[in-house]
Amino acid sequence: MNARVIEVGGAAPYRIQIGPGLLEDGTALASMLRGRHALIVSDDQVAPLYVQRVHQALANARPGARIATHVFPAGEASKTLENFSAVIEALAAHGATRDACVYALGGGVVGDLAGFAAACWMRGIDCVQLPTSLLAMVDSSVGGKTAVDIPQGKNLVGAFHPPRAVFADTTALRTLPPRELHAGFAEVIKYGAIVDAGFLDWLEANTDKLLANDDALLTDAIARSCAHKAAIVERDPFEHGERALLNFGHTFAHAIETEQAAFFGYGSGVNHGEAVAIGMVLAAKLSSALGMADVADGERLRSLLQAFGLPVEMPVGLDLLALLAHMRLDKKAQGSGLRFILWDRAGAARIVAGVDEAVVLATLQA
Ligand code: NAD
Repeated sequence: MNARVIEVGGAAPYRIQIGPGLLEDGTALASMLRGRHALIVSDDQVAPLYVQRVHQALANARPGARIATHVFPAGEASKTLENFSAVIEALAAHGATRDACVYALGGGVVGDLAGFAAACWMRGIDCVQLPTSLLAMVDSSVGGKTAVDIPQGKNLVGAFHPPRAVFADTTALRTLPPRELHAGFAEVIKYGAIVDAGFLDWLEANTDKLLANDDALLTDAIARSCAHKAAIVERDPFEHGERALLNFGHTFAHAIETEQAAFFGYGSGVNHGEAVAIGMVLAAKLSSALGMADVADGERLRSLLQAFGLPVEMPVGLDLLALLAHMRLDKKAQGSGLRFILWDRAGAARIVAGVDEAVVLATLQA
């Protein structure tokens, strides 16, 4: 099967390729390497499965290349300034020059961390995203947002640094744990919720086959998701407007993740995709509470998320006032009160500023 190709335009254009076997396509991977230095960054769950494959493919295609590997422990708890520094030190030890390339091989945590290091090393070197989780394939590898977490909040330190290319090898999804596959579907469903109601119909019709890893359907879902993200980030690369729609459910999600982290550390409790699922249900409820959308739309969204194995209820025991405080620090918040991405109906989301905190609190309590 040939790879599906999506072009992302704008000031720094790049190509997303989606298909089986891309991690073994040394010619394609090496064609992105301008100089001689390549650093493959991965986590300790993905590395044993795929690093050797990528290393070998690159070495075969570019015999003169100097290829090194940097691996850190898997999980959100690793998306730290300390691990960022460790990638920087690995680049320094490797003698990486300005034409070096970081190959970010893994889920969204690897992509965000390695991408941020690439953004900073010598004020910015190439980063090729090699997403291996569904979430990374449909969302985090595209669009150039890179970041690490700090105790005060998720993704608070980062940079916009578009990748040089994205290669999503769909065969990697076969080793992805089911819980992580489900988490990726939260972001897939998000595209339907914000801009493509027909995609929600399609996802409803194909739930079982998608969850059974039907290769062709998964490729369709990834390509349709990436096409939506590519179109939005091309029009608004720095999130001055429309790009914020991609954060549907995320103001709640990041507050939940940050509050969980305050007690148990990042990566405890619900994961990012699960938090987004819960956040989207809350965003739909808040939309209804503000008279924007029918309750039935929210119920349908909730059922679809559940069908994809995702949680739809707030984790028990979270301090709701603390969640509100996190939302005030959210990057989507501005000087004038809380700002949310809400919807008028499926496929029609918009930015709503100045949302009354009392209504938000009532939504959380409900
Ligand atoms: P993750 O990177 O932690 O991956 C989830 C787990 O799956 C990890 O344990 C990982 O080792 C494992 N894994 C990944 N691919 C695998 C494979 N093929 N086989 C076996 N195991 C595999 O989490 P994620 O859900 O991929 O990404 C979440 C992160 O992405 C969060 O930090 C979130 O903030 C970030 N994110 C960023 C953007 C962006 O635009 N930059 C967008 C959405 C999410």
